[in-house]
Amino acid sequence: MMLQYLIILLDETATSYCHYGNLRKEARLMPLEVLRDGIRFAMKENLTIQFVYPDHDLPQAYREAVESIDHGKILPSGQACPEADVVVFNGMEEMNGFAFRPGVSYVLRVSKAELFACHEKVAAVMGRVDRLNVVLTDVETFTEEDFGAYEKVLEAWVEKMEGGYLSGRTPQLNVLTDRMMLDKMNNCGAGETNVTLAPDGKFYVCPAFYQDGDGYAIGDLPEGLDIRNPQLYRLDHAPLCRHCDAYQCKRCVWLNRKTTREVNTPGHEQCVIAHLERNASRALLNRMRSYGSFLPGQREIEEIDYLDPFEVTLIPQHYYKIFFLST
Ligand code: SF4
Repeated sequence: MMLQYLIILLDETATSYCHYGNLRKEARLMPLEVLRDGIRFAMKENLTIQFVYPDHDLPQAYREAVESIDHGKILPSGQACPEADVVVFNGMEEMNGFAFRPGVSYVLRVSKAELFACHEKVAAVMGRVDRLNVVLTDVETFTEEDFGAYEKVLEAWVEKMEGGYLSGRTPQLNVLTDRMMLDKMNNCGAGETNVTLAPDGKFYVCPAFYQDGDGYAIGDLPEGLDIRNPQLYRLDHAPLCRHCDAYQCKRCVWLNRKTTREVNTPGHEQCVIAHLERNASRALLNRMRSYGSFLPGQREIEEIDYLDPFEVTLIPQHYYKIFFLST
């Protein structure tokens, strides 16, 4: 895999669209020169740009710079415009009364408490969107009880999706439908297929490494990228993940670092959540197949009896040793 995307944070307060929260609360645009240099860098390296917007309007000169190159737009729901590729809701309330549009990917950032209390709202929205990505904002806090609650939420969504498919609607819900279409890993790719340019003119593995306040830079615009140990971001150097078939898992390297202090070693919570989703995808796929041929080219999702690959002997013993010796 090689670098394909450059994510550009247009402002200190550019919206989060993933697990991390943005701790930077003071609006300050990326300097215009940095934006222009970033665009030049992407052109030279043949990278596709995704611009991440803040919750305020951009000055005309910025809009012109953005429109000078092919790109994708990630916007908070308050700034949603007809050209948006991805629109982010921070919490379910922002979805109330929203005018959803076809062809747009929507992201719902939600805490477990809100999700467990109001998951029917997500089910209702599924009837009105082409794609919704549900992203949990507190994965690392999940307890055994929370895993059980999340499993029930997924079961309820499986029923809802089944009903939708039978009436001819085939929306995508990342946690249920992505795995059904995959036969190999499709992870986030931070530090491998994409890197982020922040308003300070430096590169980061992903926005979380800048906006969560505890990250490190991997180069800057004048000197270019300087990723130490780049292999650590690759699947073939992730001892647990490379044997795993929760292909839809984000394999979030920021969460890994937060929970295990190593970017290539996942924490228990990320793995169990990804496996609950994998198993719910299996249930949905099997239910759809009972009505006829559904995704005929697609292989079965096999039944498995574990939720965390770390706990099964399917992982060769020496990985256990490496893990234990390094912690
Ligand atoms: S479920 Fe765990 S082992 Fe599997 S890809 Fe995700 S983080 Fe890696």
